[in-house]
Amino acid sequence: MLAEIITIGDELLYGQAIDTNSVYLGERLTSLGIEVKYKSTVGDDVKLIVDGITLAMKRSDLVITTGGLGPTPDDVSKKAICDHFGRKLVLYEDILRKVESWYAKKGVEMPAIVRSQALLPEGTKPLSNDWGTAPGIFIEVKGKLFFALPGVPIEMERIFDSGIVPILKDRIPGGKVTAFRKIRTAGISEARLHEKLSSLLEETGDIGIAFLPTSSGVDLRLTIKSNSPTEARRKLDRFEKRIREKVDRHIYGTAEESLEKAVGDLLRRKKLTVAVAESCTGGLLGKTITNISGSSDYFLGGVISYSDELKMKLLGVPDEVLESEGAVSEKCALSMAEGVKKLTGADYGISITGIAGPTGGTVDKPVGLVYIGIAGDKGSSARKYVFTKERNFNRELSAQTALNLLRLELTQS
Ligand code: ATP
Ligand code: MG
Repeated sequence: MLAEIITIGDELLYGQAIDTNSVYLGERLTSLGIEVKYKSTVGDDVKLIVDGITLAMKRSDLVITTGGLGPTPDDVSKKAICDHFGRKLVLYEDILRKVESWYAKKGVEMPAIVRSQALLPEGTKPLSNDWGTAPGIFIEVKGKLFFALPGVPIEMERIFDSGIVPILKDRIPGGKVTAFRKIRTAGISEARLHEKLSSLLEETGDIGIAFLPTSSGVDLRLTIKSNSPTEARRKLDRFEKRIREKVDRHIYGTAEESLEKAVGDLLRRKKLTVAVAESCTGGLLGKTITNISGSSDYFLGGVISYSDELKMKLLGVPDEVLESEGAVSEKCALSMAEGVKKLTGADYGISITGIAGPTGGTVDKPVGLVYIGIAGDKGSSARKYVFTKERNFNRELSAQTALNLLRLELTQS
């Protein structure tokens, strides 16, 4: 079964909104074993939408559109659907009652234009929308399936999952399922990772592997088409084990697990605490650690010591270090980490000091130069990094690298 996605909306073309609907649908359809061959975006224009639907219905077995189903004049998808299929809009009494009770339950008077939500192309099988007022539309012609969904992502997702998936599952008996696994690594470059896995890459069998760099490291995405989810899982488990044999140290999680979650789990398990001393990241490391609910179990807090004065006053960085080496130096990072450990009584102090840019760089200390310090009960150390020219990326990389240093420290101790 070949599928095609059409997202509808001027805002998607003008760069004012990101088309996340097709990402969602692409992922879900693929995991159902349905091949997505095309996707396109069309503005809020009846003629262009008709053209898009006509082309898609000609070359695909399954077409899903999103957007433009609402009651306002800029929503023209239903008109286009009627034009393409040669149908007229008819009133669906049960939908009208549902929309009316939706408003009644909220205790709000129903605006008159909302009545039009109950007007659907003749022959439509409506797909129930419990999260908004526009029902999804299902039309089947000569074995080809056409669906139209509202644009609001949450409504689109729920109608797809509850209304469309059961219909599709009925039509693809015994089809292959596509399964994915994401293995997340940190502290190793894409090229090094590739090198370390090179022998494995020659014998992946039916597993596809992609290297996806992120700000926390490189994700490995494994893909497999299989006869059943169980068989897929077994094969992925086996391949993951072989990857772990080669690069286990660098793997911090799977799926959508974050580095801060991995570090938090380690700290909690070992009953250890951490505090941060941040300069160029301005609190980002603390923010990242506290992305995790329950992080108060192990995160004590920190100092945002942007000025030299605060580095001295709160963290005890010696005047001489700042004079002779400067704030962006190995010694300063060490001293900040030790200082915040002492100040807070945490088991670990982590520090970040660097030049985020775009201004402030020199020949000796270029933009992107960052020192990260870590102080624990067994001693302290600081490391030098040279990241990029881009301010926010440097800050993100600094925070993620600091987390990974702590993770390595915790897995080794
Ligand atoms: P409603 O009944 O709520 O009016 P609709 O079907 O008319 O729904 P639109 O008016 O096209 O939907 O879009 C509603 C909202 O959903 C807008 O904020 C829009 O930016 C967002 N949206 C539309 N299409 C997409 C998409 N492809 N990806 C992400 N967001 C989208
Ligand atoms: Mg709308």
